[in-house]
Amino acid sequence: MFEVHIACSDCPEEIEVLVEDLGELDGLGCECGYGFVTLAIGEIRVETARAQVISFSQRDDDLPLAA
Ligand SMILES: [Zn+2]
Repeated sequence: MFEVHIACSDCPEEIEVLVEDLGELDGLGCECGYGFVTLAIGEIRVETARAQVISFSQRDDDLPLAA
């Protein structure tokens, strides 16, 4: 997930948006009709997502039942 700081190329509008994929920013435009310029991008690591990955690998360890 990314936190993207964008600003309008014409008016003073500046916003921060959270997106799963930077492609979601395509076609995003300011209310004034001009497009946004990306000022900064930060990657966000969600702790709950990491916890899900851990429980997933623990489940794999139980799989020898099928062997
Ligand atoms: Zn604008």
